[in-house]
Amino acid sequence: MQSAARDERSVIEIQQVSTRFGDHVVHDAIDLEVRRAEIFALVGGSGSGKSTLLREMILLQRPDSGSIRVLGVDLQAAGDDEALALRRRWGVMFQKGGLFGALTVIENVGLALREHTELDEGLIDEIAASKLALAGLAPEVGAQYPSELSGGMMKRASLARALALDPELLFLDEPTAGLDPDSAGGVDALVRKLRDLFGLTIVMITHDLDLLWQLADRVAVLAGGKVQGIGSMSELARMDHPAIRQFFDGPRGRAAQEQEKHGANAQNETNSEKRPSKPK
Ligand code: ADP
Ligand code: MG
Repeated sequence: MQSAARDERSVIEIQQVSTRFGDHVVHDAIDLEVRRAEIFALVGGSGSGKSTLLREMILLQRPDSGSIRVLGVDLQAAGDDEALALRRRWGVMFQKGGLFGALTVIENVGLALREHTELDEGLIDEIAASKLALAGLAPEVGAQYPSELSGGMMKRASLARALALDPELLFLDEPTAGLDPDSAGGVDALVRKLRDLFGLTIVMITHDLDLLWQLADRVAVLAGGKVQGIGSMSELARMDHPAIRQFFDGPRGRAAQEQEKHGANAQNETNSEKRPSKPK
């Protein structure tokens, strides 16, 4: 596609991407742009194609047509060397954690360093330990196996692994799903810290309205194979499209809007499921 007027701020450019499984159209000519140092969220109902789009952005899957550029590289045209170089520049935290059960946490975190660098073992362990600390885990957690971790610790360990190679770009698939309120709050504070301290660009898939209101700079709503709306949460909250209304007008959506109306620190008494809001 046209490349002359490419915006310097673009970290990911998705143009006219279509994806089908058999005759099921998952993406129908989608356009999206993710800008440098923003927290960009992808939302939509189950089966709307969020994870598939994420997999396409990280070279795990190819769209049927259209183009995806990540960090200036056209994924479709990238050769093996270019693809390898790109994989070193992003980190991915998969929904299920994706840690290897036979390796300890610190071995999991060090794996990318062993694969992608020539660093010696001592240094790899040191870097891995520093990533664990950054992700908010105590040093002794490094010696544990994934099966010994709580859900929140698992997410943190998985985040530590995603950060191993000091990525510029971080992909998070449902970073708070399945966590208790305290652990979920910890994860969003951590994600914010990564963006604020290191200027990371973050792409996340989430259903967590608290996380979206508190963290997302821009949100794209995926439904019916299309991006039905894109903007800040406040902008989306004012849009009329049915798919967007559905997203906001469920009980959790209403509670989150109340929270916005009364300020991010207001207590929410209408929904006992909600976790306490974190200060901005
Ligand atoms: P989401 O993450 O939004 O819940 P997905 O991207 O996982 O949705 O899936 C979108 C649609 O594509 C679903 O209907 C799913 O069943 C289908 N799908 C995803 N991957 C495959 C695959 N490898 N083969 C066939 N269908 C798939
Ligand atoms: Mg998914």
